[in-house]
Amino acid sequence: MDDNAWCPECGNELKQGYIFSPRRICWSDSPDSIFADFGSETLIGDAWLKVKKVPALRCKECRVVIFKHREQNI
Ligand SMILES: [Zn+2]
Repeated sequence: MDDNAWCPECGNELKQGYIFSPRRICWSDSPDSIFADFGSETLIGDAWLKVKKVPALRCKECRVVIFKHREQNI
């Protein structure tokens, strides 16, 4: 089964792995710095007892990482 994925930047094969963070990871449409993350969209929530890992794909050439947030129940 061919489940390889390819980098959208350079076309190299992406390496499968996992991304995780002990702190939440948020998304914003704006580049402005903020004092608090109120109102921003949380992609990956805070870790409590265990750090959840999210399946991810990475290109070592371009340093692009692709992951789907909210894969797990957070
Ligand atoms: Zn690449």
